[in-house]
Amino acid sequence: MYRSKKVILLCHCILNTNTKVEGLAKKSDLEKTIIDALIENQIGIIQLPCPEFMCYGLKRWGHVRAQFDTPHFRKSCKAIFEPYADQIINYIDNDYEVLGIIGIDGSPTCGVERTCDGDWGGEWTSTDQWKERLDSIQYIDKKGIFIEEIMKILADIKVDVPFFGVSFSNTEASYEAIRKILK
Ligand code: SF4
Repeated sequence: MYRSKKVILLCHCILNTNTKVEGLAKKSDLEKTIIDALIENQIGIIQLPCPEFMCYGLKRWGHVRAQFDTPHFRKSCKAIFEPYADQIINYIDNDYEVLGIIGIDGSPTCGVERTCDGDWGGEWTSTDQWKERLDSIQYIDKKGIFIEEIMKILADIKVDVPFFGVSFSNTEASYEAIRKILK
């Protein structure tokens, strides 16, 4: 690779699917297509940390947005992004192009255009309403908690970086988003 002076930030599991909630990693060409396109175009790839993995590890259950919408999780998201904000500033100060931040639509944490929410919580074995609870999940037009905190930090430091969400349920739109970044 040559020094293109172009970098992009990817949510962690695009490069390392192993941090996803167990059972969620699907066989898909999406990640490889994104990574191949970035490498072919000589784009430097920065992997963001996975906030869910860092806070709750590999044995976490799948969550909805409301369960992560706590002061502690927001503080944690903010703290883990701060060093990346510093890197973005330094790239920009040195005339590098920060092409964007790619999130995962549908994620309660890393969703850009869409996230999942619902009336989840409590002890599953103590209720016979668990099916209704599970069925309350909805995909809504809102950002995940990590993406919201990243946006707040970037707004505070007056740095304008575009965000793109990729989606495993709409791979064609995801490829289009990548083409847009690379043109
Ligand atoms: S929190 Fe973000 S990086 Fe981690 S598994 Fe979920 S979508 Fe991927």
